[in-house]
Amino acid sequence: MTALLTVRDLGMTFPGPRGTLRRQAGIKAVDGVSFEVRPGETLGLVGESGCGKSTTGRMLVRLLDPTAGQVDFRGQDITRTGQRALRPLRSKLQIIFQDPFASLNPRKTVQQIIAAPLRAQGTAPDAVRREVRELIELVGLAPEHLERYPHQFSGGQAQRIGIARALATRPELVVADEPVSALDVSIQAQIVGLMERLQRELGVAYVFIAHDLAVVKHISHRVAVMYLGRIVEIGDKQEVYGNPAHPYTKALLSAVPLPDPAAERARERIVLLGDPPSPANPPSGCTFHPRCPKAQDVCRTEPPLLQITAGTTRQAACHFPEA
Ligand code: SF4
Ligand code: MG
Repeated sequence: MTALLTVRDLGMTFPGPRGTLRRQAGIKAVDGVSFEVRPGETLGLVGESGCGKSTTGRMLVRLLDPTAGQVDFRGQDITRTGQRALRPLRSKLQIIFQDPFASLNPRKTVQQIIAAPLRAQGTAPDAVRREVRELIELVGLAPEHLERYPHQFSGGQAQRIGIARALATRPELVVADEPVSALDVSIQAQIVGLMERLQRELGVAYVFIAHDLAVVKHISHRVAVMYLGRIVEIGDKQEVYGNPAHPYTKALLSAVPLPDPAAERARERIVLLGDPPSPANPPSGCTFHPRCPKAQDVCRTEPPLLQITAGTTRQAACHFPEA
């Protein structure tokens, strides 16, 4: 299937602290990231905080200009498209944020909030009213909610409003940056379930960003795991969850609780040593080596390439991938 979005060697280098050598070298928040998103699918993008997943998400919708690489959306490189030519593409490419309240204007009614992207694309007022009514019901709220203000809603309801706004222009791709991380666990499943239903009904593709592999398990078709600005493993959900190749993926998965208590007791937890290192001062070789239970000498000097592991379609960046 042709890809909807193709990301090639994407990079983001921020300037280092003033007056230091690092200012010139810069801090690589995202480094050589490549992947595809197919129409109507969900790619889960997972990793600990600070691994570059939000920065990547922002570059996908051009809220941030990458310092390297390109992002092709429907065959057009959006990183080199002028603001004017970008406008029609913008409506097909949307983003949802972690904190719904921070992203909803407190002085606007829900009606105004959801209508804004439709107005911006020149939809006629009658059609805007009709569409907004449809959208509010689509996300499980009622027309009487339209006259209220964001602070009158719970976090889960506010995120529904954010989703309605993101879907208003019928996008083909929505980047969801930790859309449920700020919500109660019981509400998280409802919002993920809503997003799944909307995907089935509207055919929208998601890049679903999360720090927790458990959150994206059900909704994702494919999963990419990031560590220190790079993808260390990417593949079909079944392969990545069922048989992870990278020691980091294995460790993240070993922290996901299992529903069956007996299986939970029998399973071995992999506890990673220390915190992720700072991207300002990345370790040599494989950047995961100081925390990796399998590290060998070669890992300290040679950076592993992301490549297909034998007998699978999944790629992993490890000198000693699991069979
Ligand atoms: Fe661990 Fe070496 Fe593989 Fe890196 S390359 S993940 S240090 S075994
Ligand atoms: Mg983030």
